[in-house]
Amino acid sequence: CGIVGYAGSVRTACGRPLEVCLKGLERLEYRGYDSAGVALAAPGMARVAVRKKAGRLGNLVADLKAKPMPEATVGIGHTRWATNGEPTDVNAHPHVSRDGKVALIHNGIIENASRLRLDLETEGYTFVSSTDTEVAAKLLGKIAQEIIDATGQPDIFEAIRRLARMLKGAFTILAVDSRQPDLVVGIRHDSPLVVGLGDGENYLGSDVAAFVAYTRRAMELGQDQAVCISADQVLVTDFQGHPVEHPRRYTIDWD
Ligand code: GLU
Repeated sequence: CGIVGYAGSVRTACGRPLEVCLKGLERLEYRGYDSAGVALAAPGMARVAVRKKAGRLGNLVADLKAKPMPEATVGIGHTRWATNGEPTDVNAHPHVSRDGKVALIHNGIIENASRLRLDLETEGYTFVSSTDTEVAAKLLGKIAQEIIDATGQPDIFEAIRRLARMLKGAFTILAVDSRQPDLVVGIRHDSPLVVGLGDGENYLGSDVAAFVAYTRRAMELGQDQAVCISADQVLVTDFQGHPVEHPRRYTIDWD
């Protein structure tokens, strides 16, 4: 339902990704939700760090206070409005890949999730949740590993574009990969995603409320576009990987 993403650097880190994600989720509360969660990545992490809780954002915050998460450079946060599966801790986003290296959040409904899930189950994949989103997470992890096996290099941006080409339905999806802890990648189809342009840090949101506390400079993503943000770069392509030359930039005029 509500989506926020943050990319900073080791220099800007110090709890910043988590702070920005939680602040963004708080600002997105007006949309309504039943669960909340975050995923973080940083250099040296073998897997992404994930925390999620059903219920109010306060449940997640209390859990984070009791057991703090590690320092990070990038993060994603989600408030869920359940469509596929009950509002429980396990069904809350982020969902992770089989190897735990990729975490993903999703707004919308993936219409071919049952088919994709069956295919993955045939290959031996097991699922812990009853969501359409976990199917996308497992599939993205598989694609990311296939790219590494073929080229020797991780490329989560290419992986999420390949995922986009396999999904039917409506989706805004953000992902982080512990092997590329400077990046947050996203895709959108029939569901909104906006970029916030910062100074030595960049943001993503399902709407500008996600990051308006930090920047007023925004960039619109078009239908069927993919985005990759780092601390000092924003790349936009179509789902085939062709660069989008001049995404529309604007200043948020809003109190
Ligand atoms: N279909 C997903 C789920 O039920 C995403 C729902 C949402 O947009 O929050 O988990």
